[in-house]
Amino acid sequence: MNIILFGPPGAGKGTQAKYLVKKLNSYQISTGDILREEIKKDTDIGKKIINNMNEGKFVSDEIVNDLLKKHIFDKEKKNKLIFDGYPRSLNQAKNLDILLKNSNQKIDYIFYLNVNKDTIVERIKKRKILEKRSDDNLDTILKRYDTYIATTKPVLNYYSKNSNFHEIDGSMEIGQITAKLEAFLNV
Ligand code: AMP
Repeated sequence: MNIILFGPPGAGKGTQAKYLVKKLNSYQISTGDILREEIKKDTDIGKKIINNMNEGKFVSDEIVNDLLKKHIFDKEKKNKLIFDGYPRSLNQAKNLDILLKNSNQKIDYIFYLNVNKDTIVERIKKRKILEKRSDDNLDTILKRYDTYIATTKPVLNYYSKNSNFHEIDGSMEIGQITAKLEAFLNV
């Protein structure tokens, strides 16, 4: 089963993805984590993207699409993909369709965790203390939210008419969101 967790930064996609990975014996495909790993390892890509990430700007579709590819074609991960933070633009959504088609896969569920801006700001301020992410300061949070509204939210129209699209109130407690996901997934 392949699942997309969609929503603004701070919606709880990562938390729920980690839960689903265990529950469904799947793999979390977090492009944020994949990119942070490139920075940590100080690769050529890492050097290119560090400024954009720290400023809350998107990394180019070209780089992200390329890094994603090997995960989709990884035989072990086939039909066990939990997307967290991808796709984030229409270009990425269309790229994902092509990669899935070429690897004989499809998306089974798209969950939209809908959260308002004030809740996001509060949550990310708390996360900053716990995870010490360099892109979790207030300026960057607001910038990331604006980018989400301008570039990522249009992806909703691309998916929202699909019968496998489900909206969940992301302002609920973690356990309540998990329970909703489990109900949709029947697990
Ligand atoms: P996240 O961990 O999902 O909040 O992502 C952290 C940062 O990584 C974002 O603010 C972007 O700079 C970058 N990033 C993560 N995923 C993508 C993506 N799909 N497209 C472009 N940039 C991304």
